[in-house]
Amino acid sequence: MSLPKNMNERLSGGATVFIDGAFVPAISGKTRQISCPATGEVVALVSEAAQADSEAAIAAARSAFDSGIWSGSTAGQRGEFLLKVADRLAERKEEFALAETLDTGKRIIESRLDMDDIIACFRYFGKLAGNDAGRLVDAGDPNVLSRIAYEPVGVAAMITPWNYPLLQAAWKIAPALAAGCSFVLKPAELTPSTSILMMEVLDELGLPAGVANLVTGTGAEAGAILAEHPQVDLVSFTGGLLTGRKVAAAAAGTVKKVALELGGKNPNVIFADADFDAAVDNALNGAFVHSGQVCSAGARIVVEESIAPRFVDELVRRARAIRLGGPFDEQAETGALISADHLAKVDAYVQAGIAEGARVRCGGRAATDADGAGLDAGHFYLPTVIDQVSQGMSVVTEEAFGPVVTVETFETEDEAVAIANDTIYGLAGAVWSQDASRAQRVANRLRHGTVWINDFHPYLPQAEWGGFGQSGVGRELGPTGLGEYQEAKHIYQNLDPQVTGWFSEK
Ligand code: NAD
Repeated sequence: MSLPKNMNERLSGGATVFIDGAFVPAISGKTRQISCPATGEVVALVSEAAQADSEAAIAAARSAFDSGIWSGSTAGQRGEFLLKVADRLAERKEEFALAETLDTGKRIIESRLDMDDIIACFRYFGKLAGNDAGRLVDAGDPNVLSRIAYEPVGVAAMITPWNYPLLQAAWKIAPALAAGCSFVLKPAELTPSTSILMMEVLDELGLPAGVANLVTGTGAEAGAILAEHPQVDLVSFTGGLLTGRKVAAAAAGTVKKVALELGGKNPNVIFADADFDAAVDNALNGAFVHSGQVCSAGARIVVEESIAPRFVDELVRRARAIRLGGPFDEQAETGALISADHLAKVDAYVQAGIAEGARVRCGGRAATDADGAGLDAGHFYLPTVIDQVSQGMSVVTEEAFGPVVTVETFETEDEAVAIANDTIYGLAGAVWSQDASRAQRVANRLRHGTVWINDFHPYLPQAEWGGFGQSGVGRELGPTGLGEYQEAKHIYQNLDPQVTGWFSEK
């Protein structure tokens, strides 16, 4: 695989911190090499920002916000801008998709689909901006004019993960800009390239300097200060549970608004009356798309006892046939894990399950060239199905974030619901049944932020996304996703002021 020339030029300069409308090197002068997880090839060289860079970025965002240059524009103007961003992303889709693929190792066709979703997100918030100019409140007094105005929160810090780098950033950038906020984005240190390209697009379309800022660096060095800093009004974080807890604790010191999109251990509940082939096929998608590195992955199959043996046999047969490969291998059906460290973590969950008595039905190890040409070069792990599990095993309760699915069984509807809800998380879940009443009943009882009936994984920019329980705080997408970046202000005007008489005049 060789990089197109313009990609080399764009991503090998090292000056990738974007502050106050200019790309600059990290203050320390340090850089980081980005490697493709599927091949090990170095695909970019980026600046390694640290706390001082983040402080400069926060200062730029603060000053832009306080100047009113963006925060004081009309919501309609901001919406128009977002629609232009969508158009420009559509023009540069292939370049963005390539950068995403090289950083993440995901198949190029998946990166193109991600780009379609990103463009749709900008279009949605572009159209939503300005739709709601606040509301009049009936104060119960004809001499009072009372209204609610929605104002931008201020400076937003955005911290994003490596699995869907630009998509997760888009879910924050689009509503933040629609609301009138300024922001500092810190992408995952392993996958910064599309965030860098995004700054280019915002800049070339004329977003005022300082409204959008980017620090490419690690969480500990560049990220932690974003949650702590008193000049940041909101921190919106997408990532793992343990980091999310740290971000929330750091943000508590200045009581800033916190939005958390964390992990999941998502149940896929399959009743015996489900369409068998569709349920197996979607269970495979739910668990193994992007090699399971999806927050909403259907990592826990909860299947009715009467069909469990047949269901699992078929799942295993199909999982064994999944073809792993690099981003440009047209035969490949899924790709590499993000890093050697992450592969070791995924494998540790599998090994812990085995040690606790679970049975690996297929997979359960890293893939090598013996499993497919070229797999030794990347961080590939075989699709893994595990049964004979029990609650309490870490492979059942904790997020492995890899191609690992466990199978639990139930006999009654109540039992299915109890198993599905037996998690500290609550991000997503699915129910499969051809009995529409039962499907709705179970969907109502699942304590998860998204519930699919007879499907797995689709989401809509116009529908809220987020978690119950320890899957997070707040919602992205939909009108609520815009609301995260707004403060509701009550303006109360007395049209006929009078002496109150509350205190005596003596
Ligand atoms: P992570 O928590 O390791 O890192 C996420 C981000 O936090 C990165 O940018 C990282 O540099 C930064 N970070 C690390 N330590 C920090 C600190 N102390 N202060 C501030 N920032 C810090 O997560 P990850 O491994 O990049 O991503 C995978 C996780 O993301 C999974 O748990 C997955 O479920 C979750 N995720 C959730 C959603 C959702 O919508 N709920 C979407 C995608 C991913």
